[in-house]
Amino acid sequence: MKEKKFLGKIRQDPLEALSKGPKEVMASLWQEYLQEVLNASQKSGRFRVVRRQIEDKADFPQIYQDWNNMDLEARAAAWKRLIAAAKDVLWAGWETCVRCGECCELSSPTLLAPDLALFQQEVLTWNEVYTLRPGEQVTSRDGQVTTLGEERLKIREVPGSRQCWFYLAATQSCRIYEQRPEQCRRQECWGEEAAPPAPGELLNREAILAGVPEVWELVQAHQDRCGLGRVLQALKGLETDQDAAGEALFDALHFDHYLRQMLQEEWELSPAATEFILGRPLTQFLRDHGINAALTPEGTFRLTPRCE
Ligand code: SF4
Ligand code: SF4
Repeated sequence: MKEKKFLGKIRQDPLEALSKGPKEVMASLWQEYLQEVLNASQKSGRFRVVRRQIEDKADFPQIYQDWNNMDLEARAAAWKRLIAAAKDVLWAGWETCVRCGECCELSSPTLLAPDLALFQQEVLTWNEVYTLRPGEQVTSRDGQVTTLGEERLKIREVPGSRQCWFYLAATQSCRIYEQRPEQCRRQECWGEEAAPPAPGELLNREAILAGVPEVWELVQAHQDRCGLGRVLQALKGLETDQDAAGEALFDALHFDHYLRQMLQEEWELSPAATEFILGRPLTQFLRDHGINAALTPEGTFRLTPRCE
């Protein structure tokens, strides 16, 4: 008599399911087992990388292919092989970064005090970081918008994305992994979410520019004339004292624009480096606050409400 096809629910008796079920049932149980021991979303990069490591080690594709023709003993041995591979891989380092790159695709790190050494070692240069000045609005990964109370330096992102500048998507690798910034080292996606760095832990321009006083003086002059608090105040003032507010705004816009131009044309710095020294151009800041500031051929700025 032809053997009866296994129809049992796999959750009711996994051992029976493994001994009698076809390869699809085995794969489903394997998936459940992995889900339980890895305790991470199946969609996460980390899950995918660790799963691949385990399945390569146990030669899962071969087990899957042969499963339907295996006798009971062979099935038991194959299943044991899978479990042993999972244990080996997990003991070798589940609580470590498996370099799946998922966090690198979602954002770039904010630099912390220990990262000063990366500038001294020339792993980082002014061209790879930018400054967010106090008053800038930032959006967290979960979509929360906050206004910065203190300066932050960040690794640049790939234009048009949030992906870190140093991440190579094609090979899913970091170009500076061995010397990655402190925040990347602290990233532990397998545990509790790390607390945001305290203001005192943040690296700032003053520390990096300590040896170049001529640049630091420019930063301070720029902050005096183009500080975002001053610019925001001027924006608010447009509703009450238009002349005074307009004058403050134009002064800030001109100073910001011509200082950047000077740094690029006379000091031959890249536009990226000017975004490290001076932060984002004021025109971009105003855009975020609903105002287009366009430079006219006469060299002055025309302000118009921004239309979406
Ligand atoms: S820390 Fe980032 S790169 Fe490392 S495993 Fe977690 S998500 Fe992947
Ligand atoms: S520096 Fe490297 S590890 Fe850190 S976010 Fe960028 S690519 Fe990832």
